[in-house]
Amino acid sequence: MTDTADLIVVGAGILGLATAWRAHRDGLSVHVIDRSDRPVGASVQNFGHACFTAQSDDLRDLGAVSADGWAAAAADAGFRASRPGTVLPAVTAAEMQVLEEFHAHRGDADVRLLGPGTVRDRLGNPALDCLGGAHLPRDMRVNPREAAPALARHLVARGVRFSWRTSVHAVGDGEVHTSRGTFRAAQTVVCPGEHLNDIFPDLVDEHGVRTCTLTMALIDRPSGIPDDLAMLTGTSMTRYDGIAAMPSVDDLRRELVGREPALTEAIANVMATSVPGGILVGDSHDYATSPEPFIDADQSDLLLDRTTRYLGIGQPVVRQRWQGRYADSPSTNLVLHRPDGRTTVAVVTSGIGMTLSFGIADLVLTGADAPGK
Ligand SMILES: Cc1cc2nc3c(=O)[nH]c(=O)nc-3n(C[C@H](O)[C@H](O)[C@H](O)COP(=O)(O)OP(=O)(O)OC[C@H]3O[C@@H](n4cnc5c(N)ncnc54)[C@H](O)[C@@H]3O)c2cc1C
Repeated sequence: MTDTADLIVVGAGILGLATAWRAHRDGLSVHVIDRSDRPVGASVQNFGHACFTAQSDDLRDLGAVSADGWAAAAADAGFRASRPGTVLPAVTAAEMQVLEEFHAHRGDADVRLLGPGTVRDRLGNPALDCLGGAHLPRDMRVNPREAAPALARHLVARGVRFSWRTSVHAVGDGEVHTSRGTFRAAQTVVCPGEHLNDIFPDLVDEHGVRTCTLTMALIDRPSGIPDDLAMLTGTSMTRYDGIAAMPSVDDLRRELVGREPALTEAIANVMATSVPGGILVGDSHDYATSPEPFIDADQSDLLLDRTTRYLGIGQPVVRQRWQGRYADSPSTNLVLHRPDGRTTVAVVTSGIGMTLSFGIADLVLTGADAPGK
């Protein structure tokens, strides 16, 4: 048994890497352990959309800390993190009403209402039939296929030890038991994402943690679509806690059930973001302990059709399709648990881990509780 570091981080997804980056910056020696040979989990499968504004009011401060972390880590590790904001077109009066309420609730610094012409310009679709929309200027964009791998490479170059292809079986009281033996550290932070059950099954039982699967695609980006696009739509307004708290959201939900029954059935969040070489489009939500591995072709085509309608792309060229997976809980957005004085477990149990990762790393390392606790 060897003392390897001040801090062992289990999991080299964005949450583990953000924690490792911050701890290293604070002068700790850090050892990262991951069962894969590179980041391949939720942190590379997603939209790269750091959607601070749409989160609930009590996550606003955490979002601000996370935004600073993203900007500093990107500058340090040499990956791109930009702040183009998010555009939300309103295609019906019910959607516009929700956006107006959100604007009245948050104010101009967070939510700017847009006329229809500006929405069309921002989405690159002059023919979009919309009533107007909103811009959320604080939101950030990263390329999910670049950010976590770049951060891992940067930490390696700075002398942080990585043990890839090493599965962790148990953690407690400063000991980390793995497929390559036991390691010791003063503190251990466990960020296993959807694989929490492998190490802490009792936490899975306590919070009903399950896996959410999402149908995704990468399409070619026509030249008229902005290269820093981040678009949410009416379905998104009903999903993100901040916007979904507005009084007229139930009216919008009812409208969507009638107008878009198949999207409602798919628990869709029709959205799109640009990455170099394309546009990421999605998504649907399906919840299971052990999900089916198959992508439903009709559902994939439905999401492609609806997303590209907003963008005026008549014949999308699909480059990739995949099923994304993240940890979910019906009762909390974040499992933050300290089973003993030397162990912290952190799992984002909602589709907001890219948004909040650097803020959660701050909670983990300062010993703070999750907001609202
Ligand atoms: C399709 C999709 C779209 C999304 N869109 C967004 C978005 O737009 N905005 C947003 O904020 N969030 C989004 N999310 C959610 C976000 O991607 C996740 O919340 C976040 O990436 C979780 O990061 P993580 O580090 O906790 O998990 P992961 O990236 O899954 O990393 C966990 C790591 O732990 C390792 N590991 C697990 N168990 C063990 C073990 N026993 N031993 C060793 N290693 C282990 C795994 O190999 C993995 O590398 C999306 C997710 C998906 C799938």
